[in-house]
Amino acid sequence: MNTIDLRSDTVTLPTPQMRAAMANAQVGDDVMGEDPTVNRLEEIAASRIKKDAALFVASGTMANLVALLTHCARGDEIIVGDKAHSFINEVGGMAALGGIIPRTIPNQPDGTLALGDITNAIRGDNVHWPPTKLIALENTHNACNGSPLTPEYHKAVSDLAHARNLRVHTDGARIFNAAVALGVPASEFTQYTDSISFCLSKGLSAPVGSLLCGTREFIAEARRQRKMVGGGMRQAGIIAAAGIVALETMVERLADDHANARRLAEGLAAIPGIALDPARMKTNIVFFDLTGALTARQLAERAARDGVLIGVNGERRIRAVTHCGIAREDIETALRVINRAMK
Ligand SMILES: *Cc1c(COP(=O)(O)O)cnc(C)c1O
Repeated sequence: MNTIDLRSDTVTLPTPQMRAAMANAQVGDDVMGEDPTVNRLEEIAASRIKKDAALFVASGTMANLVALLTHCARGDEIIVGDKAHSFINEVGGMAALGGIIPRTIPNQPDGTLALGDITNAIRGDNVHWPPTKLIALENTHNACNGSPLTPEYHKAVSDLAHARNLRVHTDGARIFNAAVALGVPASEFTQYTDSISFCLSKGLSAPVGSLLCGTREFIAEARRQRKMVGGGMRQAGIIAAAGIVALETMVERLADDHANARRLAEGLAAIPGIALDPARMKTNIVFFDLTGALTARQLAERAARDGVLIGVNGERRIRAVTHCGIAREDIETALRVINRAMK
């Protein structure tokens, strides 16, 4: 049976071109700054994102952690959405390892933080209070239906932050999904954030790795923080080689994933007992709710028996993610299987 795996875009496998690039990569000791393939990936990433410099790290979690450790000292506070990946799904690393306090405010359904909520959460100068240092955004917003934040929104947050002498970090794990969905270059967003992380290992299909981008000075300090958390890798060009192929060949095709997700959402909306608003699904992530007695786990188990894997995200909440391993026909098959499993 051919499995249709909609659990995450992290299940994507390296392409044949990536494997060839990995096998032939020129390498050196990256901790000494001597891996030519890592250096090239960092240059390509910085130039695509239009930041001065970039740092190759092991994962999106490490990219966000290193970013926060670089921006903040122990006891500093950051303003972050209550549905942010960095708050919910990164093991509390900012607090556990960085002594950084997450001040959560509600994520709106479109993944934004209301500007008024941000303003109200910024601390003044008071001997009782931890200082606010940073505002953390997420684009696309994973838990908010993969919503892309707009460049205009990024600008508004950036203006607000910089007027109060705060910095902005963007968890851009899927920033290229946002760029493709809105039809703008990624630099349209990134000009309004002091630092940004993005993943190579999700929709871009590389096996490992993320990049953190920012000013030259910021990245120099981030390099020290990466070493501190054990992220100094040696002949990392082996994996960076796949990342270069990812950036060069896998970005434009994300539009196919978005079209497939839209088709999936429309098909799901027509199935009795499933609730979702297809208009909210603008990228490759589809969330839906079960309105009857069937639980998400039961549905996932039934669908899995027919070769369709979906993510359980709550008692009656499911997440399905499209990616390059999912073809248009797979969407039709998945809809048939889910329809049957709902009965
Ligand atoms: C996946 C993800 C991360 C973390 O990436 P890992 O490589 O899995 O550590 C961070 N932020 C968002 C929004 C993500 O979806």
